[in-house]
Amino acid sequence: MHFENNLAFAHALDQADPLNKFRNDFLIPKIDGKEIIYLCGNSLGLQPKNTRLFINEQLDNWENLAVEGWFEGDSPWMFYHKEMQKLMAPLVGALPSEVVPMNNLSVNLHLMMVSFYRPDQKKFKIIMEGGAFPSDQYIVESQVRFHGLNPDKVIIEINPRMGEETLRTEDILASIEEHSNELALIMFAGINYYTGQFFDMKSITEAGHKAGAYVGFDLAHAAGNVPMSLHDWNVDFACWCTYKYMNSSPGGISGVFIHEKHFENNELNRFAGWWGYDEKTRFKMAKGFIPQAGAEGWQLSCSPVLMMAAHKASLVLFEEAGGIENLRQKSINLTAYLEFILHEVNKKAGSELFKIITPSNYKERGAQLSIIAAKNGKQIFDKLVNQNIIGDWREPNVIRISPVPFYNTFEDVYKFGSVLENSII
Ligand SMILES: *Cc1c(COP(=O)(O)O)cnc(C)c1O
Repeated sequence: MHFENNLAFAHALDQADPLNKFRNDFLIPKIDGKEIIYLCGNSLGLQPKNTRLFINEQLDNWENLAVEGWFEGDSPWMFYHKEMQKLMAPLVGALPSEVVPMNNLSVNLHLMMVSFYRPDQKKFKIIMEGGAFPSDQYIVESQVRFHGLNPDKVIIEINPRMGEETLRTEDILASIEEHSNELALIMFAGINYYTGQFFDMKSITEAGHKAGAYVGFDLAHAAGNVPMSLHDWNVDFACWCTYKYMNSSPGGISGVFIHEKHFENNELNRFAGWWGYDEKTRFKMAKGFIPQAGAEGWQLSCSPVLMMAAHKASLVLFEEAGGIENLRQKSINLTAYLEFILHEVNKKAGSELFKIITPSNYKERGAQLSIIAAKNGKQIFDKLVNQNIIGDWREPNVIRISPVPFYNTFEDVYKFGSVLENSII
């Protein structure tokens, strides 16, 4: 695509953008009455205007129906999650029965490992990406110790080659093959939080299954950002948070995917709770756990309805926008424009002041670009913040910038570039 580094050109792109109107469905933070440039949807998505409405509806139900709200009203709380399953499924390429909103991400990863990490004498190793999000590292380490094993002997981390920033698929696949005799589980990110690399989930899953391992993904940075086909790719399980690209409130409810091929497998361990019990007989309060069929059978506690309402408000917008494929189409262009603008800044400076470590192939990334400044990275970042440009800083030295197709504009990206140019120190 042809790009130009000027405001009129950015404006023209916004005017031609069929999704531009969705910006008006979000609350953009203001400072001194002026909208900030928010490029941090990778960390916390902005609040949809309808979130308050959806939550208020449930506050009204609570007020008027009280405990009867579980079974009465327009959308009884007992079945509220079922409406969401239908809305969540297309976002990750799943059947509605394969997804469910519950708990939070780290909790769900633990629950999934209870089911899908069953080490024995022969197969006990776990492959994950080096530099995974810290919570994921702690989860895997503590699960390994819980089984009485030594993390140093069990966890295989795959790292970039010397002098490279991201992983090569061929290296991931080679490592899976190398460890296949002892491999029990692959637990990878869909998109790495630090580099923004979108991994080849289909090939990783195929290779993992060939090695006789289960394959699960943490989709914190992929869900609501890129389309996926979890069902068709035959992924065993996946979990994601909904407060990043899914705009569903800080610490909002998490989503879980469990492939339907595992629904009838009684060999799988699971930590059970009453909300995973067969719906028809749940309130008989009988002894002996009988799971509800599908991902719902992994639920533990009764539904956190207010959090679900916040999530639903956002899911409805994804549907209105014509689905994740539509948003992705814009996202590819928006991030390509950001990449172009960064190259322009470097060109004017006469050197590669800002190195992009995210893959340049759009198929290997989502919305986010991760940038390393040649010098004074943190000072430059602080200067941007002072001028009301919000990205985020990740130790040791990366600035993450994520233009989100729902509410960011090409103008945002252009303005980011011109402020960045003036912030070089
Ligand atoms: C954001 C993020 C988390 C956060 O986990 P919570 O349980 O929601 O706090 C975990 N893993 C990854 C990869 C993330 O990007």
